[in-house]
Amino acid sequence: MKKFCKSFSFFVAVLIGLENECLGYSWPVDGNPQTWTYGYTFAEKVNGQRHLGVDIIKDPLTPIRAPYQCTVVISKLDSGTEKNPADGYGYYLVCTYKDPNGVERVFGICHTSRRAGYEAKGVGSYSEGTILAYVGYDDENGLGGPHLHWFDYGEPYSSFKYPGYAPNSYGTDVDYDKEGNYIGGKFTDPIKLWSSYINPASLVALYSSGTTNSLILACYNLNGGQDMFGAPWSNSSFGPYVHPWPDNSSDPNVVWLQDFITTSDHWWQIVDNPAAGAAFPVHGQILTFWHNNWGYRDYGSPSSNEYYATDIATGHQLVIQTFIKGSVYHYLGYDTVSGVSREYQSTEFQTSGAGGSPEFTPTILKTLIFPCLHDSLKKEAN
Ligand SMILES: [Zn+2]
Repeated sequence: MKKFCKSFSFFVAVLIGLENECLGYSWPVDGNPQTWTYGYTFAEKVNGQRHLGVDIIKDPLTPIRAPYQCTVVISKLDSGTEKNPADGYGYYLVCTYKDPNGVERVFGICHTSRRAGYEAKGVGSYSEGTILAYVGYDDENGLGGPHLHWFDYGEPYSSFKYPGYAPNSYGTDVDYDKEGNYIGGKFTDPIKLWSSYINPASLVALYSSGTTNSLILACYNLNGGQDMFGAPWSNSSFGPYVHPWPDNSSDPNVVWLQDFITTSDHWWQIVDNPAAGAAFPVHGQILTFWHNNWGYRDYGSPSSNEYYATDIATGHQLVIQTFIKGSVYHYLGYDTVSGVSREYQSTEFQTSGAGGSPEFTPTILKTLIFPCLHDSLKKEAN
């Protein structure tokens, strides 16, 4: 769908009258995150609670545009605000939208103006770029001077559950705190998330905390970068960032990886192997097998790229990738003749004359082999 949108949005619009179907994502106010001035940032602790959005300081009556095609589901004055305009959200909008994976989420824009001629839009659907509201004046928008409070919530809309602050115990709180610790809540940093919509390649090898996994970055760059792997992909509850598998990062078997998707929807993971001092790409049938068979627990991390081998019993060509769990090697592979994937013993195959050098020493420099029988394979586990 993404590729389709990029290539043919114009024709789609002309031919079948679909407008806005394929418009991109943008920022709600002029400039970009590097140029904005901030009040409270995401997950900042204020009076012992987490700030659940980001405060972008702008002049009163600055237009706030729909950053994506969206549906306004709430457009109202914060009930706590009618008596005391110094508290709460003031006037605010809650909107639903779909992320690039088609998953419905919610964003909110708060502290908007109620001045005559600058009222916010009401409930309804709006295309990207529509002016939804204007930044409110001091006397109508709560504490902190004129600003936009922007939040993003990782669930479809059901009812209002979007306070400006919450203690971590709420369970609807931030996903990551300011120190990069995963807390598990539903609010996320809208700037990081929307950066990934606008320029996914900017998130290569990044943890959500903003730090870089240098092994994943090296693997990505040395093996073809975006042409090979596409862009970081939100294929788990952790978004498009480097993340643990399983979800519990303190699991003794945890592996760390990042998902990528190409423009032709081919799924890759680049998996860190700290013991080897390298990261390796995994994809296609081997990725599917690894994922569907408790790979992190039973096989550990990849310690080689893919290589060709010959099944001694059948003479069939195999594609093998070596994994290591503790000090035990596991050879995951598939038979290119039968299409069946399984774990092989090292005595079952030979690599000499099989079309690719045997590779049992982890390296990130070796040229990849990537014969894929089913190029559309992607996502199941994790
Ligand atoms: Zn705020």
